[in-house]
Amino acid sequence: MKKNDEKIEFSISQEELDKKWADAKASMQGHSWIQQGTEIKCDSCPFPHSFYIEPGNILKGIDEDGNPIIEAVLTQQ
Ligand SMILES: [Zn+2]
Repeated sequence: MKKNDEKIEFSISQEELDKKWADAKASMQGHSWIQQGTEIKCDSCPFPHSFYIEPGNILKGIDEDGNPIIEAVLTQQ
């Protein structure tokens, strides 16, 4: 029987998690975001990239760090 020495580590430290989150946020910065339906597209990079938001949310703007500001639209009925 072959012993598997390579264990897959699923748990990461809070520190690593914070770093991953910081990296993810950093990758969102410095772009010019536009909304098309439920898609938020970057209009400033030479390569297309975008992400989806839930219906009922709008791109409200871009904060001072270049992060897209997504806001839920309150529907009053
Ligand atoms: Zn971009």
